[in-house]
Amino acid sequence: VGEAIVPSESLREEYDALADEVRHHRALYYNQDAPEISDAEYDALYRRLEEFEALHPELIANDSPTQEVGGEVTAAFAPVEHLARMYSLEDVFSLDELEAWVRRAEASVAAAGFPAAAWLTELKIDGLAVNLLYRNGELVRAATRGDGRTGEDVTHNVLTIKDIPTRLEGEGHPEEVEIRGEVYIPTKAFNEFNEALIAEGKAPLANPRNAAAGSLRQKDPAETAKRPLSMFVHGIGARAGLSTASQSETYDLLKAWGLPTSPYYEVLDTYEEVLAFIERFGEKRHSLIHEIDGIVVKVDDFATQRALGHTSRVPRWAVAFKYPPEEVHTQLLDIQVNV
Ligand code: NAD
Repeated sequence: VGEAIVPSESLREEYDALADEVRHHRALYYNQDAPEISDAEYDALYRRLEEFEALHPELIANDSPTQEVGGEVTAAFAPVEHLARMYSLEDVFSLDELEAWVRRAEASVAAAGFPAAAWLTELKIDGLAVNLLYRNGELVRAATRGDGRTGEDVTHNVLTIKDIPTRLEGEGHPEEVEIRGEVYIPTKAFNEFNEALIAEGKAPLANPRNAAAGSLRQKDPAETAKRPLSMFVHGIGARAGLSTASQSETYDLLKAWGLPTSPYYEVLDTYEEVLAFIERFGEKRHSLIHEIDGIVVKVDDFATQRALGHTSRVPRWAVAFKYPPEEVHTQLLDIQVNV
């Protein structure tokens, strides 16, 4: 019987300080929509925490930011329990890491006895996640992701977003279905909105992501209604009675129901095709209708998704490739220069 490893006091202090720093920035980002550091800096800090935990697994706390979905439910909104959990995404920051991830996933798929996966490859929209609950085709509730189990009730604000239908088109809607997507501000609308603010002598909004999050989390829906919010669906939660077998097939159905699906996703058979997608969108990432911070690669088939499962924080059937940070927010700089 091995002796329990007792971490030194200073190591634990170092670990706690690092975890607290991540928590601090997470709270600013999710709860106040007002980050103090860039996403790239945050990602580097988070990576340091992950690496620290890999070296000292005995220190990992249950409430470590690596063990849970970031985001809380603030007192400003009523709490809403999601019917099915909402997860975050595992990030990779280089093509080498991505390829390693894909090869591991391919091996897991084969080991589980499933045919080779097709990869639903889509843009990682830089906005915030919402969970829409439709009962018999009627939008009855909308919530932020929160900690993944419980989100914030933003129904009244979501009702002001034109992209989101209050009643689904067509027929045969399930009794209860959770549609997940990203609320964002299109780049063009963001620039126009900021120009109008500047013309009125007001401070412009910092960037589309925080503006989208701040706009959706307004206490007064009339304020949300003034912001140019849009949405694209990228997932599905509770889905009893839904007979689709894959994510892409579900997108087709959601589109037929009048929900906004992205024009950019593709279902690809090989890692090489995924790579080509990443390169293509890397070149045109600043000329798309919304900002992106990466590409999401998902196993398309639902049965294979279920076989791979998830950790306490992320699905094992999806990964987010993050583009290198040097291209971030030149727009913001331009606007500040013009003020
Ligand atoms: P994440 O944003 O990396 O990934 C999960 C989220 O991606 C999902 O919840 C969903 O909302 C979104 N998403 C966008 N497009 C998607 C698609 N096509 N399919 C599925 N999901 C899609 O993870 P996270 O845990 O929400 O947060 C980490 C992100 O937030 C990082 O980008 C990080 O840099 C940033 N962050 C920044 C700070 C800061 O201080 N600057 C602090 C905390 C977090």
